Amino acid sequence: MSRIVYVNGEYLPEEEAKVSVFDRGFLMADGVYEVSSVLEGKLTDFPGHMERLARSLAELKMETPLSDEELLEIHRELIARNDLKEGVVYLQITRGAADRDFVWPKDAKPSVVLFTQVKELEEARQAKTGIRVVSVPDLRWGRRDIKTVQLLYPSFAKMEAKAQGADDAWLVEDGHVTEGTSNNAYIVTADGTIVTRNLSNSILHGITRASVLQLAREAQMKVEERPFTIEEAQQASEAFITAASTFVCPVVEIDGAKIGEGTPGPVAKRLREIYIANARAEAI
Ligand code: PLP
Repeated sequence: MSRIVYVNGEYLPEEEAKVSVFDRGFLMADGVYEVSSVLEGKLTDFPGHMERLARSLAELKMETPLSDEELLEIHRELIARNDLKEGVVYLQITRGAADRDFVWPKDAKPSVVLFTQVKELEEARQAKTGIRVVSVPDLRWGRRDIKTVQLLYPSFAKMEAKAQGADDAWLVEDGHVTEGTSNNAYIVTADGTIVTRNLSNSILHGITRASVLQLAREAQMKVEERPFTIEEAQQASEAFITAASTFVCPVVEIDGAKIGEGTPGPVAKRLREIYIANARAEAI
């Protein structure tokens, strides 16, 4: 059965859902996106995703074509029409269609596309086994705080990780880990401190990161926001990643070195439980 997709005001079967070949998202990756998770048919961390979307659009001086209330309504309609119980809703807004030009068009109308994807989140296999990562140089552009659709390098880095028999890559710049290809990166030191890189233009300001750090602090866990090296990570007692579509997921190996016992650690497990319980309670 085909999915129902939202395209510029219409709900259409996916085969009929189309955007222009002149769309600047297609020609220039001139667009931004958000991915929100769905648990039991409800959206998790939704206000955070809407806040970051507004910020990404403002940074690129793009018009905000729909209000948060309208976007929530479209998300809910797609979840209902596709009977989505667990998975994600993908939302993309581009600057719209116009003759190809490096100068931004004055009167292009933003394109808005949303679709659902079924995905096992709570019982995901990788959350139980943990993942293996390899380090690769971070060769992305300098505004990684804007959630743009230019994902070629992260995709390339993930392919490199797969080629090396790993699950994902951690990106390294000036000797320090920035983040994962599509997630924020963390380690847990011997004294139980959770360490993750501080916010700046070098990383995406993860919505899951914000929730997890707040929940960790509320649970009296120690948090340090600072850069760390691959060597420090390899000697840490635990490592993990966060993202909307993985929640908290343990990392058990970095560049071939086992982290701790080489199995998911207690801090990552606890944070995953706390995060899921809270996401469920606050889902809309
Ligand atoms: N960092 C990058 C580069 C990402 O692409 C993502 C998610 O796609 C994240 C971090 C995690 O962000 P969030 O928790 O908002 O999904």
